[in-house]
Amino acid sequence: MLWEDFLKSDYHDWRGSGHSEDRLDKPGWLPQLLSIHNLPFPGAPSAEELVELKRLRTHILHIVQRSTANETASAVDLEGLNLAMSGGPMILRIARSESGYSWESTPLREGWSRIRAEVATSFSRLLVEGEPSRLRICGNPDCKVVYYDETRNRSKRFCDDKVCGNLMKVRRFRARQKSAASDDSSFHGSTEY
Ligand SMILES: [Zn+2]
Repeated sequence: MLWEDFLKSDYHDWRGSGHSEDRLDKPGWLPQLLSIHNLPFPGAPSAEELVELKRLRTHILHIVQRSTANETASAVDLEGLNLAMSGGPMILRIARSESGYSWESTPLREGWSRIRAEVATSFSRLLVEGEPSRLRICGNPDCKVVYYDETRNRSKRFCDDKVCGNLMKVRRFRARQKSAASDDSSFHGSTEY
């Protein structure tokens, strides 16, 4: 989903080095994101356009954070989505696809306002047609990646079980070993006066 990949621009090193970066500031990241989602790259965003993109990202992140706390979106954040969507009206078309039907959108305006509208629409669509209660923030506190839990029993705790899931397993194992070791030493400590 476009909104999900867009949020990955707010990168935090999942291994816990503390390194984080805003990929919206990295040339090359946005063209790649847009090409994956079959959207045209409107040229490097101006300083103002970049601020608008980051503002939209903040609104989406707020809504995700509130949703994971079982709260509905604030009026300010919804207004942020509405503002972004108003910047790029588009004509929606339904078409047949391999898996059934799909949307095709024809923008009436191009440029970054259209891109913001596409991102905001993809997220709003999830709020309306999907299940916002399935929005998650990765259970690895260093990672912070946002995802949509599509598992049947809503049990996906990490953005990627092979990556963050494994890392947390290793950390839990080490913590257990450490506490077992300190239990041992206190035991010995009490027997050898
Ligand atoms: Zn993660």
